[in-house]
Formats: sequence, C-alpha cells, structure tokens
Amino acid sequence: AEARERYVAARPKSAAAHARARAVLPGGNTRSVLFYTPFPTAMAKGEGCWLEDIDGHRYLDLIGEFTAGLFGHSNPRIQAVLQATIANGLNLTAVGENEAKLGEILCARFPSLERVRFTNSGTEANLMALAAARAHTGKSKILGFYGGYHGGAMTFAGGGSPVNAPYPVILAQYNDIEGTVAMIRENAADLAAVILEPMMGGGGCIPATRDFLATMRAEATAAGAVLIFDEVMTSRHTAGGLQRLHGVTPDLTTLGKYMAGGMSFGAFGGKAEVMSVFDAYREGSMPHSGTFNNNVLSMAAGTVAMGELFRDEEADALRARGEALRAALNQVCARHGVAMQFTGIGSMMQPHFRTGPIIRPYASTPAEDALRELFFLDLMAAGIYTARRGMVALTLPVGDAEAARYVAAVEEFCEARKPLL
Ligand code: PLP
Repeated sequence: AEARERYVAARPKSAAAHARARAVLPGGNTRSVLFYTPFPTAMAKGEGCWLEDIDGHRYLDLIGEFTAGLFGHSNPRIQAVLQATIANGLNLTAVGENEAKLGEILCARFPSLERVRFTNSGTEANLMALAAARAHTGKSKILGFYGGYHGGAMTFAGGGSPVNAPYPVILAQYNDIEGTVAMIRENAADLAAVILEPMMGGGGCIPATRDFLATMRAEATAAGAVLIFDEVMTSRHTAGGLQRLHGVTPDLTTLGKYMAGGMSFGAFGGKAEVMSVFDAYREGSMPHSGTFNNNVLSMAAGTVAMGELFRDEEADALRARGEALRAALNQVCARHGVAMQFTGIGSMMQPHFRTGPIIRPYASTPAEDALRELFFLDLMAAGIYTARRGMVALTLPVGDAEAARYVAAVEEFCEARKPLL
C-alpha cells in the first residue's frame, strides 16, 4: 500500500490523463498490456534508452516496446530515412521498390523463408499464416499451446480458460512432448497447423527445449500439418531468429515488432509451396490485402533497420549481453537466497517469484501477484521502466552501465523486501 501511495502521489498528470481516457476508452486503454492499477504512467518522450513521463520523471527504458523498440527512441539513421521518405510523399497507392529489398534481406537470413508477405502487425501475420495453412492443407483445426500469445486476436490463456481465436483451436501444454504428440496424432485428419512461439514471450519468457521443437517439426510433417513458428518476438535472438539458433526449420514463420525500425510491422512467410496460395498468377489464389501492408514508412525504415543496423554481428552481441545480464540477475537472487529467478533467452527476460524449473506458464498465486506489483512499483521509484509483469527486452542503446543499474535495483529489492521473498 505504501509503494502504491508513493506511485500515485508522484503522478498527478498521469492520473488526470487516465481519468480523461476512461471517459472514451473502456478501462481508459487501447492496449491491454498497458493497463494496470491504480493507473498507468503516461510517457511524453524518449531518447536513446531513456523515457520521460508527463509528470517529468526520467526512466531507463528496459522494456523497449515489448521488443519493437530495439533501436531505441532516436536512432539517427532511422530518423533520417523516415524524414527522407516523408519528404517524398505518403500513400502512393502503388508498389514500391523497398518491399522487394526487405523481402530479400529476410529470405536470405531466416532458414524457413523462401517467400514472404508483409502486414501491419504480428497479429495479422499470424492470422494470415493460419489462413495460408488452412488453404494449403484443406484442413481446419489449429493446435496451439496454453499461455501462447499470437496477438490481440489470438490469446491462448494459461489455465484452460476460453480462447479468443477465429478458428477451432485445440490447446496442448508447452514443452510436453508426449501429450502434444498424442494430440497431433489424434487430430491429424483435421489438423491444418501447429503454431507456437519457440520461446513463449507473453507467457513468461519460457524457452522451448530443442527436443520439443524438433519433435513438433517431425510430427507436423507426419500429420500433414503446417508447422508455424511465431517469431514475432524471438526473431531478434539471431539475425535469422531462434529457428537458426536451434536448427529447427518450420514451414511458416511470422515476424513483426522491431523489423521496421519501430514503425508498425508484420510479416509471414515460409515454404514457396505453401505461400503460393497467394500467388495471383495461380488459378484460384487467395487474396491477401491490406492498405498499409507496404506503407512507405515501414518499408523504408525496415530496409535500413534490417539491412544496415541489425545483422549477424549486432544480433549476436545483443544475445550475449542479455545472457550476461540474466546470469548476473540470477546470481543476485541466489546470493540473497530469495524465491526469485529470471527466465528467458538473450535480451528477453522475465522475473518469476518462485524457485525450481519453469517449463510452461503457470497460474500465479496471490502472493506472487503482490510481489510482481511491488517489484514493478519499486523499479518505477528507482527510475526503471519495465513491463508491469516484469518483462525486460533490451534495446541496442542499453549499455553496460545501464544494465548494471538494473542489477543494482534488483539487489536493492532483494535486500529491502527480503522478509516477503
Ligand atoms: N506474436 C507474439 C509472439 C507476440 O509477442 C506479439 C505481440 O506482442 C504478437 C504476435 C502480436 O504482434 P502485434 O502486437 O504487432 O500485433
């Protein structure tokens, strides 16, 4: 209660902004992930890896727009290409040259990508990938995983609660090889696709084992189903995604987030044979439309972001920095003997307030929920901005000094709140 009072007292303008928003937006919100009580902090501006809220507080930004903000808030190269693009006019109602350039970059890097198409978001990319799988196989069922997140229209809740999905979906348990294999085999006759994140992001930064992914690969093939890796978040783990790190190649891959340098973006692609359902030269092909699919800003920024700013070297360095940070954080937790740990891969990580291995999403206890809120409030008071649920996604401008600041804040939390942990 004391931490919450301190939060409220420091943010009169954010409180007022929330009250105003509630009159026109249900819950005062237009993105569920940004909702939390008593009210969310409204940001005014950002530079590099720093943010300033509308009440004038400064924060180290460690969530980086849930991975979409990879390049930070003010990368000069991205700002320059956007300004140059704006100067040449928006909404040209035509194909441009950048979509092929960006397509070439992505197809050269991601093992599964032979053909690709662009969308406005990761959500759309997943919807289109599933539509492609259904058209290609002539089957209808989708197998997903409890706690999987594939966008606002496809959230597969953790505990068996209802699923918001436009298709008949059956759900299996993540990393459960035996159970999932049985389900795939049982449903093979109707199964169009198996869709999964090779590391769950929203579900808690929980990596799939390589064995699990390799088994999904083999079983999807045997069942005549399309294997889809949702790499909207995990694509950053190498320049060619987590599929390249694991050496497991899906039939289709979905992408999004940072790839257009911070502009709205999504992409889906994979085997030429599957993607040919969209080939307009083909009799009976399926339409894939979207006014902003090739908007000039996303295409231009994407070409620069992926072609110049985030290649093998940058991706590998980022992954190594994230691994080092997570190891340091887990050392702090171990040294203090607290029930707290950080899971994840590379630059994406998530604190959990429990001990023991975490291999799939779980229903957290009220005590865990309270600790999660307290941790968030303590970090905000220390000038560190993460997801409300604690997730961290490093951005390229975050350096050693900034990472050390987070480690110090976690250390302080462990010391100050030890009786609760
Ligand atoms: N898939 C995954 C794994 C995601 O984490 C997200 C967004 O967080 C999406 C899909 C949806 O992407 P978008 O928010 O661009 O629609």
